[in-house]
Parts: sequence; structure tokens; C-alpha cells
Amino acid sequence: MKRKCHIVYWGGIVGWLFVVGQIAVGSHKKIALESIQASDIKVHIDVLADDSFEGREAGSRGGQAAGHYLAQQLKRFGLQPAGDQGTYYQQFRGTCRNILGMIQGSDPQRKHEYIVVGAHYDHVGYGTHQTSYGPLGVIHNGADDNASGVAGVLAVIQAFLALDQPPGRSILFAFWDGEEQGLWGSKHWTANPTVPLNQVVMKINADMIGHLREDQVFVFGTRTATGLRRLVSHGNVNTDLALDFSWELKANSDHHPFFAREVPVLMMHTGLHEFYHRPTDEAHRINHQGAQRVARLMFAIAYQLAHGDPVPEFRPLSRSEGPSDRVELERPLPPRGPRLGVSLAADQDDSDRIVLTQVLAGLPAERAGLRRGDVLLRFADAAVEDVPSLLTRVLQVESPTSVRIRRQQEEHAEEIDLSISLDHRPLRLGVSWREDDAEPGTLILSEVIPHSPAEAAGLQVVDRIYKVEGRTFACGDAFRDLVATWSGPMPLLIERQGRLRTVTVELPPR
Ligand SMILES: [Zn+2]
Repeated sequence: MKRKCHIVYWGGIVGWLFVVGQIAVGSHKKIALESIQASDIKVHIDVLADDSFEGREAGSRGGQAAGHYLAQQLKRFGLQPAGDQGTYYQQFRGTCRNILGMIQGSDPQRKHEYIVVGAHYDHVGYGTHQTSYGPLGVIHNGADDNASGVAGVLAVIQAFLALDQPPGRSILFAFWDGEEQGLWGSKHWTANPTVPLNQVVMKINADMIGHLREDQVFVFGTRTATGLRRLVSHGNVNTDLALDFSWELKANSDHHPFFAREVPVLMMHTGLHEFYHRPTDEAHRINHQGAQRVARLMFAIAYQLAHGDPVPEFRPLSRSEGPSDRVELERPLPPRGPRLGVSLAADQDDSDRIVLTQVLAGLPAERAGLRRGDVLLRFADAAVEDVPSLLTRVLQVESPTSVRIRRQQEEHAEEIDLSISLDHRPLRLGVSWREDDAEPGTLILSEVIPHSPAEAAGLQVVDRIYKVEGRTFACGDAFRDLVATWSGPMPLLIERQGRLRTVTVELPPR
């Protein structure tokens, strides 16, 4: 929303104080964000993926030791215990334990709402035929799976503690046990929640964030709440990761038991690799800088969720949506037919002259009497200067229009004026789009017309338009109205793979 200029003096003062307040909040957030450091993440991964924890199998001696290490970290941070009887532990199935700690919210109205940020800390121990690709009988340290996610969550905790005051909503940090056995820990918690489940507004899960390659992070779950992709993309402004918003939502990690109970979820993952569920998933292979970036992204998202209003609402439709629906929504439109129906080139002898090299049968140019070899002098009452500007002009003029050509007739050249009825309506921007009920106020480009202002500005199919000159718009019709009345530079905030950028389109005069 764009802020209006204040005429009333007090309005100005209040506005100024508001701006100063925003700067203060912004700087604390920045300090917190930058407190997330690869070196800290490395320390935790090196500890958790050490042989001394014997692969952290749920309920085992090594698993217990890892749980103890995590409870110690929460204690060191001064987090409020959020497990059984005032401890950090929630015990189940004998010796399995979830490790739980809380940062209480600071807003009296919203502190009873919770963001759950978690990662499983167990792995597969020495491996079995069910849990390992082998070889079996040797320690599987699970550095990426999921010491990396645990270290990322620990870094997020530290960042929240670096803020000058706790966030508005409460945040429950959870390290789940028994994930590799079948999501035991998160299933146990959702069946026996330690805070009211209907007050959990979001579950953020990190599973394998230690092998970032080519900046690509898979973000699952953005369809589970309205506006979530937009929120995640805004959270990515500082981290600039290439986000793959997968529509798949499988019961393959601890977000799923929450999703099954209609809690919106987000799951961060840097992808599978050859070391997955093998003893070679070792600490020295971890990309710590990459894990730092994913952890910073998680913090930015959790921060926004903990402060922002309204919280994204669960989308029941996400239960039935899948990758094929994504294909449908993002499918490019087939190219539309030409308005004129010619091929053009600069003349080989005189590059200032534009010659028709082809006139397609049955299309407007042929119908108007244009022929191959004609030289175009004027189009729509303006001199023809070069091929690109002419092609753009053809898209934009009203129909019918006029064309002046020079045609070689036997010995002499003749100038001829013709009237021509163009196909299709004139366009200003040169895009088509689809709307997405999961992301109201967003347009997904399904077509970018060649030689249009949109193409010249660099817009691409599947780009999402979020704002026009800093302003949101309600729907496609509102956007269309803006385009119809705008002339000159039109700055669009677009999102491509979770990265926001401003693209300025040069619209023709009205
Ligand atoms: Zn895992």
C-alpha cells in the first residue's frame, strides 16, 4: 500500500516517527539475520555427525546422546522448556524423545499463537535394509540428513534471541526423533501436542539443507496457505536463493503430520544426492555457506509469520492439488497468429530500406495487396525506420491502418498507399496471464508476445507480477485497468523462482 502525503502537520510527525520506528525494527532484524553464521552451523553439524553418536538412531544410545546435546543447547540459549513436566523432553515409545523449547511471544494478543520451527535429529544408526542404501553395519552419520536441518534451526533460534525483543507470536522449536522410522516424533507430537494444535499457525520444517547446489532450494508447502509463496519470496530478498516451489507434498518428513491436521506447512530441502542414506553422508561434504543461506531464509520467513497480520490461512484445496495442476496453471499459451503476416528484412543494398521478404497467404498483408519485394516506406502514418521498432508498432496500432510502399514495376518504381485491416486487437503491454486462487493479487504470465514492450523489458512466461509501482492490485481486471491508463515507464515488481526484481516496461502513449 502506498502511503499518502500528509497535509496535516501531526500526520507528518506521526508518519516520520513511523518511519524511524520501521528503521529501528529493520536494523534489529538485519543484525539477527546476520547473526546466522556458517561457522556456528558447522560446529553443530560436526558434533551431531560425529561417530560418537553412532548415527543417532531413534531410542539408541547415540540417539539419546544427541537428544541430550540438543537439550543442552536449548538450556544454554535460555529457551523455556516445552516438553513433559517442565523439561525439554517429550518421551515416547520407550526411549525416543522429541526435544522442545519455546520463545514466548511479546504481544499479549498474539502470544497464544505459535509458529513451530523444527527438524528431525535422528538418523539410521548402522543402517538396515529398510533404512539404508548400504553398506550396512557401519555408522551412518547423517550429516546432511539431518544434522544440517538441526544446525539450521539452532541458528534460527540464536537469531531470534539476537532481536531486541521477542516476536509477537510464540515460537516452538522442535527437534523430532524417530523420523527415519516413519515420522514417529512429529506424529506423536501432533497426537499429543504440548501447545494447542489449533493455535499453531504454521509449521516450518528443515530436512537436508546441507547440499546447496546452484542456489537451488526446494520449498514444499506453499500451496497449503493463501499468500504463502509471496511471503516466502519476500523473505528471500536478502538470501537470493533460486526457490523451486514444488507442489508435491508427501509424507516424507515432519511437516506432513501437521499438514494432515490442517496446519499450513513449509519444508526446506536442498535436494537428494549420492550420499543420501549411505555412510558417506559425512560432515566434510556439507556446504556450510549454503546451509547458512537456507537458515537465514527460514528466519526471515518465521520472523514475518511471527509478526505479520493476517497469518496465511490453511487452503483445503492443497490436499488435492499436485504437480499436474502446476503444469496446467503454468502452461504457456500457444503463440497467437501475426497481426500483419509478413517477414521483413533490411535491404541488402540499402540497409535503410525495409523489404518484405515473405507475405503469408491468407493473412492481412496479403489481403491488402502487399507483395514480396515491396519496400515499406510508411506504416500507420509514420516513417519506417528499422525492423524492431516497426514490429513493435505493428502490435500497437489501431486497425484498420495505412501503409505506403515502393514497388518496382518493370522499368520504374512506384509508390502505393494501401489500407490494411490487421488481425487481433492492438496491445499495450503484450502479456496474457492466469490468476491463482492460492495467491490473490498475483498474475502468472502465460504469454509474452514477441516484440512487445513486455518482451523488450525482459518479462518471461511464468513470471509472477506482484506490484505496479509499489502498489498491489486486487486481480487481473484491476491490473488491466492500470495498463490501459498508464503511459511511459511502468515499474513492475515480479517474482521469478522466488526472487523479486523490478522490471520497468515502457508503455506506449495513450
Ligand atoms: Zn531426513
